Parts: sequence; C-alpha cells; structure tokens
Amino acid sequence: MLGQPSFQAVKEEFAELLEDKNLEEVVDVIHSLGRFANLPLPLLYFVCRKTALKHAKRVQKRGCPRSERNCNAAGETCCCRK
Ligand SMILES: [Zn+2]
Repeated sequence: MLGQPSFQAVKEEFAELLEDKNLEEVVDVIHSLGRFANLPLPLLYFVCRKTALKHAKRVQKRGCPRSERNCNAAGETCCCRK
C-alpha cells in the first residue's frame, strides 16, 4: 500500500541511488532488477520517467539535477559547477 513507512523508505533509498548515477546506467540496473524481480516493464518505464521528470524540474529550479543535499555535499565537483 502506498504511504506505508517501509515503502516510503525504500522509495527514498531508491531515489538516492538514482541521484548519484548516470540515468542510462540506472535504466540498465532497473531493467536487470526488473527481470530478476519479474516486474512488468511498463512499471519500470514509469519509474524511469518519473525520475527523469524529477531531474528536469530540479534543473529548471536550481540548475542542477541532483538533490540540494547531494549538490551541496559535492560542492565544486558537482556536475552543475563544470
Ligand atoms: Zn549541483
């Protein structure tokens, strides 16, 4: 069920994983995981698309696709400072 604490934790952890990886790599990982877990591809596509949209919104808002926390942590090495 949506909104359960454990589901939220998994979702957040997953989002953090996505943030620090290049999106193509992540799609590969998700496809492998999907095959492993027997998830339907439309669901995987939905997750990938949501991630891409989230990143696009961040770029619009702050000029950086990473979360504010990760951006600050990366400092001058962040992808947005190059
Ligand atoms: Zn940044």
